[in-house]
Amino acid sequence: MSRAPCVLYRFAHDLRLDDHAGLAAACALGEVVGVLVLDRQIVARLVRSPRRAAVYCAAVQALDSALRRYGSHLVVRRGNVGTTLREVARGCGASAVAWSASYEYAGRLADQHLQSILEEAGLRALLVHDAPVIAPEDTDLSGPDGRGYRAFAGYYERWQRLILGRDLSTAPIAFSQTVLHSEPLPSAQEFGACAQIAPIAEEEVAASLAAFLVGPALQYAVTAKVPASDGTSRLGADLSLGRLAARRVVRETLARLNDPFLLAEERTSLGSFLRALARRDFFLQLAWYAEGEDRALQEEMRDFLLASDHPGLSAWLEGRTGFPLVDAGMRELRLTGWMHPRVRPVAASFLCFDLGVDWRIGRDLWERWLIEDDPALATGNWQWAAGVGADLAQVPRIYDPERQRRRVDPEGRYVSRYVDELAGLPVGAWAGRPAGASQLELDLFGPVGYPKPILDHQASAHAYLARYRAYRRERAGTT
Ligand SMILES: Cc1cc2nc3c(=O)[nH]c(=O)nc-3n(C[C@H](O)[C@H](O)[C@H](O)COP(=O)(O)OP(=O)(O)OC[C@H]3O[C@@H](n4cnc5c(N)ncnc54)[C@H](O)[C@@H]3O)c2cc1C
Repeated sequence: MSRAPCVLYRFAHDLRLDDHAGLAAACALGEVVGVLVLDRQIVARLVRSPRRAAVYCAAVQALDSALRRYGSHLVVRRGNVGTTLREVARGCGASAVAWSASYEYAGRLADQHLQSILEEAGLRALLVHDAPVIAPEDTDLSGPDGRGYRAFAGYYERWQRLILGRDLSTAPIAFSQTVLHSEPLPSAQEFGACAQIAPIAEEEVAASLAAFLVGPALQYAVTAKVPASDGTSRLGADLSLGRLAARRVVRETLARLNDPFLLAEERTSLGSFLRALARRDFFLQLAWYAEGEDRALQEEMRDFLLASDHPGLSAWLEGRTGFPLVDAGMRELRLTGWMHPRVRPVAASFLCFDLGVDWRIGRDLWERWLIEDDPALATGNWQWAAGVGADLAQVPRIYDPERQRRRVDPEGRYVSRYVDELAGLPVGAWAGRPAGASQLELDLFGPVGYPKPILDHQASAHAYLARYRAYRRERAGTT
């Protein structure tokens, strides 16, 4: 009996077996050998954030265990990805290599390079869209000029129609039982992390999705806006490392929407959750068509002068600006590797507008702590926050940090969780602030060591807007 042909599947940011478009495509060509090459690009991203490295290594360990349950194993190698894949393919007689597409500019270039190296070596290279629910190149989503959508509203309208009309499940997979030489699995310490964390099986990740959909998702429309309520899914890291398929999240959310006993508000909440997932696909397609991750999407904003430093930059970074919501967000990020999504735009706005610092600097500084590993989402969101991306607002969306705090955390419950100096304040001290006050009366906190605001928000916002308007006027005059 002749053996089935062998095909390599290269894992990178798709560390699961379930509902995997790349694996399914590979499997259509033969029995799959799973390979992980710790190349320069992956190592650079792991070294940058030790917490991310620990989570990544745990996910790799879980992936290897899952493959072993199929009688296979993960082939781990360190080095140049092209050279390594060619060697492994030669070793097991594989004639094809499949992998999942990257969306950020550098990743796309690397994919193209790898594709040509493999093809030059006579191997079939199969690049598959796995991360988004709907691929950017889907003809219906490529936009009026074939370069994707720049505005979310139009994109979302089409996206909703596409997910309804599709079977999003993927085919079963078969793995090669051939035992190949593998280097040791990566360990967190290898990338500068102190602690190793226990592997979490992909079934556990799927279970947290299921738990979210029967509970918190039904109040999502309200609670996602309240950082203290922990009402969001917290699936960002799992989606970015590919421990969970976005297709599965959408499929299960749509199935949940079929429950005839849901209340109207609960349907609205599930709809808002789907909208959040559409935003992920939207930013992936923006990156897919972008000319570089450091270039502002809005061409007319590319020459607007941004500062590379500010005397308040380290206070922002350390969560000591004297603006409680900004500080709580930054401290949450540093402590946990995640910042609540409702707080992120406020903290980002403070850097971009109050400090006038370049959004690229903010994006790269967050990298030190974030577990999520998705440069396309980081860039898209930071550009949006800085008013140079896919946001169609006429003027930059400058958040008043204290007004936002009053809106999303009126009793200071979220702030108290992360800003120790403010933890002892009675609820009345938060709720009792004068409604029209633009900032907290921070002298109240003097005795417990919380810093006074490092700047006057209104004055900084006005100064930024004046500079912005002058720039736009000048450009309008010269074009
Ligand atoms: C300034 C800024 C920077 C960000 N940087 C990153 C980043 O580096 N990496 C990253 O993965 N995400 C980033 N985000 C998006 C989002 O805040 C995170 O994905 C966050 O972890 C979502 O938390 P959650 O899973 O509880 O979200 P939920 O509200 O439960 O949403 C479910 C899923 O929808 C997707 N989603 C929700 N909001 C967005 C959004 N604004 N953009 C894209 N996808 C979204 C995420 O995949 C999320 O897991 C950033 C947002 C902002 C405003």
